[in-house]
Amino acid sequence: MTMFCYQCEQTAKGSGCTAHGVCGKDPETAALQDLLIHVAEDVSRCARKTRQNGSKTRDADVFVVEALFSTVTNVDFDPERLAGLIRKGENVRKAMGTSCAGVIEPAADLNEMIRQGESVTIQKRIDAIGPDVTGLQELITYGLKGMAAYADHARVLGKEDDAVYAFIHEAMDFLANNPSDVDALTTMALKVGEVNLAVMGLLDAANTDAYGHPEPTQARVTSIKGKCIVVSGHDLKDLKMLLEQTEGKGVNVYTHGEMLPCLAYPELKKHKHLVGNYGGAWQDQQKEFDAFPGAVLMTTNCIQKPKESYKARIFTTGLVAWPGVAHIAAQADGTKDFTPVIEAALAAPGFSEDAEDKTIPIGFARNTVMSVADKVIDAVKGGAIKHFFLIGGCDGAKPGRNYYTELAQQIPQDCVILTLACGKYRFNKLDFGDIGGIPRLLDCGQCNDAYSAIQIAVALAGAFECGVNDLPLSLVLSWYEQKAVCILLTLLHLGIQNMRLGPTLPAFVTPPVLQVLVDKFGIKPTTTPDEDLNVILG
Ligand code: SF4
Ligand code: SF4
Repeated sequence: MTMFCYQCEQTAKGSGCTAHGVCGKDPETAALQDLLIHVAEDVSRCARKTRQNGSKTRDADVFVVEALFSTVTNVDFDPERLAGLIRKGENVRKAMGTSCAGVIEPAADLNEMIRQGESVTIQKRIDAIGPDVTGLQELITYGLKGMAAYADHARVLGKEDDAVYAFIHEAMDFLANNPSDVDALTTMALKVGEVNLAVMGLLDAANTDAYGHPEPTQARVTSIKGKCIVVSGHDLKDLKMLLEQTEGKGVNVYTHGEMLPCLAYPELKKHKHLVGNYGGAWQDQQKEFDAFPGAVLMTTNCIQKPKESYKARIFTTGLVAWPGVAHIAAQADGTKDFTPVIEAALAAPGFSEDAEDKTIPIGFARNTVMSVADKVIDAVKGGAIKHFFLIGGCDGAKPGRNYYTELAQQIPQDCVILTLACGKYRFNKLDFGDIGGIPRLLDCGQCNDAYSAIQIAVALAGAFECGVNDLPLSLVLSWYEQKAVCILLTLLHLGIQNMRLGPTLPAFVTPPVLQVLVDKFGIKPTTTPDEDLNVILG
């Protein structure tokens, strides 16, 4: 059997994974993910009709978000769980009682389901309608996948917006009709970016209402003697529940990857056994979890195939899954029992001694930065700060990402670097110093906190009475998966010009589509740090 997937930056040969995913996704899982997206489109079609009849579609709303998020890169590799979601989608659709023509009826048998998935692959659409239109359709799908990830994180913290669900159904219905009009596709892609801004705002409110605004914090990045759990992914609520359940148990908790910003939230950092961050970005996890002498909890993406050395002490929760890895499911009230994780930590050796104390500064989200806005504005007006760079996005395993390290190192001393998402691990342990007390490296948080960086840029533009494009600000973004795609669509919706994107351009953006992005938004591939800096700073 064959598969076709080109949704992430590490896609095989820069064009598409066709035999096996570089990420570890096998063809069976790929087929089930393709079928799941198709089933979700059917659910959205029926949900739109049901809503037009004035009925609520709560189960369909949550299902489509979970289906989209489950197919994001490095989230769900488990065929059984994907098959369960497909069956759930069929049940949700039927329960709405709205008839929709031409829906796919998923087979009961797993192998037959896989055959059904093979009949709706992306390659079939490329063959039928060509790569340009298929790529634009996928741009919308991937934007929706990223948006769904943010919407799901907000939902578990009680923040939802019915207009967001209505739009997701509208966009999925649009895609189900196999649109080929380039203008309509482009308009819908930008609309995804617009709605995603609202979703990121919801998530920002969810996180800050629950755990307070991040505050400047020196985060320890070395280990402390004792039993330990490391938490990776992006979910703050999972971490909070684990911290409460480990209180007084003699287990230290560490963040990993995109959980690093959690160390700056008042309601999380108040737990004294949340001791620091362990390791770096997601692609280093096999080496790092192998060496970690405790239990591992993966809350959301990005999981890699667990090595045998730690398979018995790694746990998944939420939508993330790997076959054979123990999964902590939510109970009916949303709480989770992390006892198996704690027991695994207590059974493991733990760190035998304290490592040398080393910390890095984090916690420069919008509230903190805006609280010193006057100082920042004075520094710009007085010439102490010449330029701002936003260097952020997803990190990845492919070569070429040392560009971001070199760029950050070569940026002149009179410039400030804002960063977010796991791409920051390329340089966040380097010492950048400060400009009159303003740190030169401001870590705004997770990829989920892109909203914060956008708010900072908008507020600076307001203070200088200009547009964001007129600010002395350059965006140099790294992308890897679909959350980065929806953030890019949001930035395009906001009319941000001249962004640089790397380390390679998405395979689903074909040359004609790229030309549109270049003509309309001045989007550019990254080149070399020297060349890009020369152009940016003149
Ligand atoms: S998610 Fe990325 S690596 Fe995995 S199969 Fe798709 S394109 Fe390949
Ligand atoms: S920023 Fe992207 S690549 Fe990095 S951990 Fe988050 S989802 Fe994965």
